[in-house]
Amino acid sequence: MNKMKSKVYLVGAGPGDYKLLTIKALECIKKADVIIYDNLVNKSCLREAKDGCELIYVGKKPNHHIMSQDKINNLLLSKAHEGEEPKIIVRLKGGDPYVFGRGAEEGEFLHKNNILFETVPGVTSAIAGLCYAGIPVTHRNHSSSFHVITGHLKANGREHDWGTLAKINGTLVFLMGARNLHTIVNNLIARGKPKNTPIAVVTSATMPTQKTVISTLEHICAKIKKEECNPPALIAIGDVVSLRDSLNFYERQPLFGKNIMVTRATNQNSEMIKKIADMGGNAIEVPTIKINKIFDNEELGREINNLQKYQYLIFGSANGVNIFFDKLQEMGYDSRILHGIKIGVSGSQTAKALLHKGIKADIVPKTYTQEALAAEIAKSAKQTDRILVPKAKKTRGVLASTLNNVTEVDIYETVMETSQKETVIQNLKITDYLTFTSSSAVVNFMELLGSGDIPENVKIVSIGPITSQTILGYNLEIYKEAEVSTIDSLLSVL
Ligand code: SAH
Repeated sequence: MNKMKSKVYLVGAGPGDYKLLTIKALECIKKADVIIYDNLVNKSCLREAKDGCELIYVGKKPNHHIMSQDKINNLLLSKAHEGEEPKIIVRLKGGDPYVFGRGAEEGEFLHKNNILFETVPGVTSAIAGLCYAGIPVTHRNHSSSFHVITGHLKANGREHDWGTLAKINGTLVFLMGARNLHTIVNNLIARGKPKNTPIAVVTSATMPTQKTVISTLEHICAKIKKEECNPPALIAIGDVVSLRDSLNFYERQPLFGKNIMVTRATNQNSEMIKKIADMGGNAIEVPTIKINKIFDNEELGREINNLQKYQYLIFGSANGVNIFFDKLQEMGYDSRILHGIKIGVSGSQTAKALLHKGIKADIVPKTYTQEALAAEIAKSAKQTDRILVPKAKKTRGVLASTLNNVTEVDIYETVMETSQKETVIQNLKITDYLTFTSSSAVVNFMELLGSGDIPENVKIVSIGPITSQTILGYNLEIYKEAEVSTIDSLLSVL
């Protein structure tokens, strides 16, 4: 039993934007047995933790209680000593662990208690948060230093030396100052800082909900309402604030400030969510449908053994491709068993999934509908050709009704995810765009909503004509429809 080998990593998770996590931080998260995390940590990071990793939240509780530093220290200690095997413990903090993060105190405590530790610096909000608001902390022509100051005004029982702070020409950055904006500004003005000095207050920096208010020391308090200045907030004071006009890249992104509800199956929507984030939008996930593969699918197994009697194999979704190929492999085959068979897909995502398996689709219709796919197959198929269609249960059998010799095999089914009904109803209140990428998503979403209403200001966006038909069937108004039935096209109409 060598408990001394447990190791604690004091890790900075960056200011909020998930992608500002460092590679080293990500490595730590992935290998951790225990992650002890704070309020300001972007929870998406935690998805990278391995199965079975113990996640312990020590930030603010709904009753505004914070776990005391002593308790956190003792928790680190007890986790390091727990069990027979040495553990990897990650203490995950917002921004950088040594910038007002009490990381140094935790390091001292671990050292004193002979626990091995390492600190992984993070991207601090003091610099990066302002960067995302278009404010550089230094600039050759405007500011040759920056000063990061706590906004807790009686730090260690001492009042700040406002006279000295007011004289500094460099950029002043206050952290933890949201509730004390008034006092900070008044103290600086009272000690002679020019009233027209530019000031910015940036809340939820680097997040899709980022808000920036710009003014002067004299007017900022009138401009910003108390309720708008919620933590976490950064306060930047100095000439560099004026550079925002040129440098504000983040808030200028096409979907910045927009809340976009995504109604796809959980394992399908990650691509759309990534794209929305890359365009600055806030994706709100609604896993209305879950994909359930049909296990021990004997029917599919039989058709795979009989593949040589088919001339065509047609896939209607990326899920279908993946499940089909899993089955092939499970049965000891590989893609060579498909030689000589023409393969068709219903759209570009399905084609992409197929390409991942090393196969280029022979047939991809120009418009991504079942009807167009059937027409495309009909162009080359002979009367006697046999067509295998692995598909989702309870979906429209367009191919079977328009083409000859079609064998359909159900390989998965989509089922409702109802656990999040209340969250969905709450989120709809702040949603700008409600997006649907398939008919089944519409049906499932409406079923999930039940008697609940879609608020009037929510704009509905559809991926294509078939989905639109289903939406209209519920007497809902469509704001826009994608030009071609792809996620990119859907996002571009926004
Ligand atoms: N270690 C952190 C700071 C911890 S103190 C860092 O390096 O960023 C907590 C304060 O940091 C908050 O009160 C706020 O002033 C600031 N802060 C952290 N993340 C922020 C964000 N995303 N937006 C605005 N302010 C943030």
